Amino acid sequence: MEGVLVTGTASADLDGECVRCLEPIRDELAVRFQELYVYDDLRDHNPDDEDDDVSTLQDDLLDLEPVLRDAVVLALPFQPLCEDDCPGLCPECGARLIEDPDHAHEAPIDPRWAALTEIDERPSGHTP
Ligand SMILES: [Zn+2]
Ligand SMILES: [Zn+2]
Repeated sequence: MEGVLVTGTASADLDGECVRCLEPIRDELAVRFQELYVYDDLRDHNPDDEDDDVSTLQDDLLDLEPVLRDAVVLALPFQPLCEDDCPGLCPECGARLIEDPDHAHEAPIDPRWAALTEIDERPSGHTP
């Protein structure tokens, strides 16, 4: 009586990247939505009372975009992952650990001693 109840399903293609390893992710999403569009002439036209939560019919048309956008945004994963247990990137070299799980580096040199290795690599002493 007071408006038009819209119910629907929308599908969308997702295109993003894993938050841990930055690998591109493609997926599909299907969302259901339902919204009541109120007849505009039934509302009080008080400019101080802009109620953004109410969808209205504009003449005989309704604007699906904000409803669709809200439904899709709410359904998006907050932190998309390429795999549920994506191990991310190696903090040393940036390799993807999912492709190289046994990935290892020599134990990093204690930064307090790093200056000594630089001395070792210099040409030694004065040549006669
Ligand atoms: Zn990943
Ligand atoms: Zn590495």
